[in-house]
Amino acid sequence: MQIKLSFYGATRNVTGSKYYLEANGNKFLVDCGLYQERFLKDRNWDPFPVPPDTLDAVLLTHAHIDHCGLLPKLVREGFRGRIYCTGATADITKIMLTDSARLQEEDAAFKRKRHEKEGRKGPHPEVPLYTVKDAEACFPLFYPVPYGKTLRLGDGVMVVFHDAGHVLGSSMLMLNVSQNGEVRNILFSGDVGRRNRPILKDPTLFEQADYVLVESTYGDRLHDDGDKIADELAEVINSTVAAGGNIVVPSFALERAQENLYYMNELLTANRIPSILVFFDSPMAVSITEVFERHLYLFDKEAKDLIQEGKSPFDFPGLTRVTTTEASKAINNITGSVMIIAGAGMCNGGRIKHHLVSNISRPESTIMFVGYQAVGTLGRQIVDGAKKVRILGRMYKVKARIAQLSGFSAHADRDELLSWLSAIKNQPRGVFVVHGEEEVALSFAGSIKDKLGWNVSVPQYKDEVILD
Ligand SMILES: [Zn+2]
Repeated sequence: MQIKLSFYGATRNVTGSKYYLEANGNKFLVDCGLYQERFLKDRNWDPFPVPPDTLDAVLLTHAHIDHCGLLPKLVREGFRGRIYCTGATADITKIMLTDSARLQEEDAAFKRKRHEKEGRKGPHPEVPLYTVKDAEACFPLFYPVPYGKTLRLGDGVMVVFHDAGHVLGSSMLMLNVSQNGEVRNILFSGDVGRRNRPILKDPTLFEQADYVLVESTYGDRLHDDGDKIADELAEVINSTVAAGGNIVVPSFALERAQENLYYMNELLTANRIPSILVFFDSPMAVSITEVFERHLYLFDKEAKDLIQEGKSPFDFPGLTRVTTTEASKAINNITGSVMIIAGAGMCNGGRIKHHLVSNISRPESTIMFVGYQAVGTLGRQIVDGAKKVRILGRMYKVKARIAQLSGFSAHADRDELLSWLSAIKNQPRGVFVVHGEEEVALSFAGSIKDKLGWNVSVPQYKDEVILD
């Protein structure tokens, strides 16, 4: 048995997921993600370690940009095979790639201006990593695959996509390679979701695998109880409405935004909060919500039941989906308490900045964070307790209440990852811990050894292994 596996991303870091697999003369890439850590972003400009035109196919686990964000570059540099993923992932990825390309174009224009002003040159040409046109060139290559269907990728190589319960359409991949009468199953965890989350089904469990690549984003910690989210949300809304302020929610467009609407709907139905106007002020989140509405069959039982009763989890009295800039600006003229959900999730761009300008210095308003805030972002400064922040070129005093809802994570924690792995009854021939910061990945590998006694390794960037 000779299967070559190379690790080209998410090795002792969390972004840039990219794994190369060669079996029976077929060549595949599992995920083609963008590096997002500042210190690794240079790798996005490097030539691909494998010539893109030699690849037969890309298998895409889900639509997060750290898993799909380099596809436009791969296609521009010659990839012409199919991009296999679920239908929901294909739909969401198209929206995400277009948005990412727009940001790349804006970024390049901004750098060009700054370098001109400062009379210097940066390490990379002042052109976008890829353009909207490059992103659109990927669209015809998407080939939707339903969960559970066995797909033949080439001579003796099959794959089945399974629900990962992480974001809508997200997948775990079970690859099956036959060679000289022998068979090996290789399981790619993708990003592992959590059980009992709203809207999504639980992550799929597997009873057998010869090799496993497992993510480890939160492999060294335990999440707070997810059931508390509704209580925390109700408290924030009730106290802010009592104070007469607005609730401003910086939110990621995929999953977090839809979950937020789901909880609002639940609290309103249970009369736990007063009915207030809610503005869903993100064109990207609105488009992604429309994708959710086209793929209702992927929802879990509770969400399906709501729809059966004629109640969409993403629609309730008082909710407005805002798409135009004029309508977005008009929100600021409304008196009384409203909730505004807007992007970007870390406040580093988008319409949220305008809403922060109008609310951050009002003691009666609340800025409610529902997601991770990376170092160096405006969102991080605010959650870290900055007294003054710069927004759109001006300084503002932070007087609003800052709330952080912790239970929203879309990634399994250490014990959830271990329990996902322990469903596998045999001892795998090899387990590779990926998609986690170095110390987290090493710590999680230690937990696997302690709890399950399995052979584990934590690959380095560009490591190559032969699976036998
Ligand atoms: Zn993800």
